[in-house]
Amino acid sequence: MLGEQAVGPGRRDPACGSARNWSGAAEDMMATRAEEIADRLLALIEARGGGWYGLERINEAAHSLQCAALAERHGAPTALIAAALLHDIGHLLDGAAEDDADRGCDDRHEEIGADYLAQWFGPEVTEPVRLHVAAKRYLCATASGYAARLSEASTRSLALQGGPLGTSEIAALERNAGLADAVRLRQWDEDAKVVGMPTPPLDHFRATLVEVLLSPRAGRA
Ligand code: FE
Repeated sequence: MLGEQAVGPGRRDPACGSARNWSGAAEDMMATRAEEIADRLLALIEARGGGWYGLERINEAAHSLQCAALAERHGAPTALIAAALLHDIGHLLDGAAEDDADRGCDDRHEEIGADYLAQWFGPEVTEPVRLHVAAKRYLCATASGYAARLSEASTRSLALQGGPLGTSEIAALERNAGLADAVRLRQWDEDAKVVGMPTPPLDHFRATLVEVLLSPRAGRA
């Protein structure tokens, strides 16, 4: 055919080089996008995380950092560290009320946060976030002594959230593949309310967020 060149041994098919260039450019774009999303999430915690964490004596940013630091210290996979850092992001979004517990309302922050994160993350991140309140209700119903471990504020919100799960709710939750990670996150959540606990700075978790966002299973950058 006129203009067509044979591509044989020793001859370079221009389309191959061009495909490689396109795939490299696409990877660069995805990496840049993941960095932008990570920066946006960290900026949100930094800008709005100065408010009190519910009725606890630490602020939202410190609580998030402590939870992520505990996950990291326990060798959690990166997606679960990201979930730990972001599990209460529903408290920080537009329209979230800081004083819902004071006013006797359940803010459903776990659903709001999980739906927000689902723009970019897969279920490895969103489901522990979505289930971290259910995991508290589950542990209070199934683990002896767990309720005594709750802070005063968490005990108060437990009542607003429906109290310990009932038998049928326990059975339904145990069929959820995300329960194990949610239970791990929940226990770090309980322990992440310590005034003055040393933690890495927020920026320490930037690389973790980027890695998870670029992961083919967990991220949707
Ligand atoms: Fe929390």
